Amino acid sequence: MSVGVAVLGSTGSIGRSTLQVLARQRERFRVVAITGHSNKDLLAQQAQEWKPAFVGLVNGGSREPGAGSRNGTSCLVEAATHPDVQIVVNGIVGAAGLEATLAALRAGKRVALANKETLVMAGALVAEAARQGGGEIVPVDSEHSAVLQCVAGRRPTELARLILTASGGPFRTWEPERVSKATVAEALKHPTWTMGKKITVDSATLVNKALEVIEAQFLFDVSYERIDVVIHPQSVIHGFAEFVDGSVLAQVGFPTMELPILYALTYPDRVPDQGIRRFDPVAAGTLTFEALDPHRFPAYVVGREAARVGGTAPARFNAANEVAVQLFLEEQITFGRIAEIIERVLAEGSGEKEEGTSLEEVLAADADARRLAREAACS
Ligand code: NAD
Ligand code: MG
Repeated sequence: MSVGVAVLGSTGSIGRSTLQVLARQRERFRVVAITGHSNKDLLAQQAQEWKPAFVGLVNGGSREPGAGSRNGTSCLVEAATHPDVQIVVNGIVGAAGLEATLAALRAGKRVALANKETLVMAGALVAEAARQGGGEIVPVDSEHSAVLQCVAGRRPTELARLILTASGGPFRTWEPERVSKATVAEALKHPTWTMGKKITVDSATLVNKALEVIEAQFLFDVSYERIDVVIHPQSVIHGFAEFVDGSVLAQVGFPTMELPILYALTYPDRVPDQGIRRFDPVAAGTLTFEALDPHRFPAYVVGREAARVGGTAPARFNAANEVAVQLFLEEQITFGRIAEIIERVLAEGSGEKEEGTSLEEVLAADADARRLAREAACS
């Protein structure tokens, strides 16, 4: 019997890569549910190809679609908890992915999680939902997949430190003056990965790496103090795990999300896949590493501070960033203002005294930070 999969955000970059992986694994998996936000045509095309039992369109309007289809936000939870689904691939961007992750875990599903914002906002709640329902999270993010592969089978007490790699984005070598005025087109030109717009901007500010440090804390139960980041422009080594004896393991491969997606689907097993480009050290050539310059990436520094503060600070950091990135993509603020806005929001309400252990508290902090970010953008 094949394993039933729901692909949330099937019209996005992660969603499309997931369907590409599944197209090569049809004996092992079947697509039971897909959801999209507003790309109706692509969703219809995917439905035609995969014939899933359930199709959800968040922004589908009020007219009831046909049998097995649903419009509106509730389609996400419905897809994530569908009785024929064993694995939910969450490829939704931003805080909108939280409810579906919680629901899937409470229903005992595996969540192959690309939607890192979920863990950053509400890591404690996600862990609690998994405990309650017997579900599990397996990361899709390439750095976390790398670490998972390095630590597999080791005891947590043997782990000394994690090192996540970052490409450094398109502005790694630019003068800070020029970076602050970078255009949307320049920010969307990622040197090594092709991804959705929001994460591509997050990779240019390195907010993405701060989100990943917080994500790694929850996934591997390691404090941010033992999670380092190194700039590695070639994106060939995705993550390192250092053990207490000083030995270090790394996971290596040409940049593709298809490998971490496949691993999240089959974990802890590995299955043959001829569609993924094989690694060749000679073709990879010289691999280089640089220290992350905190002056160049101020938003990363604020994100680490949010990790230190804990409570709802990571949720506030994430929400402020979501608003600032959206405004930047709409060309309402300059690139340099993204970091400035996030910094202002966290200075105004750090969330230090909020534990972040109830959904109401997390959602209130999220809403408050969004309001403060919009205010900061106008002033
Ligand atoms: P994307 O913009 O290409 O796709 C986002 C998907 O989410 C789309 O299918 C869209 O329809 C859906 N969506 C958007 N807003 C929604 C809403 N309010 N409600 C429901 N659905 C909504 O983004 P992406 O690059 O695929 O990234 C998705 C997630 O995966 C992000 O959290 C990102 O950080 C993470 N991620 C992506 C990559 C990558 O290579 N693309 C790598 C690592 C992690
Ligand atoms: Mg990543």
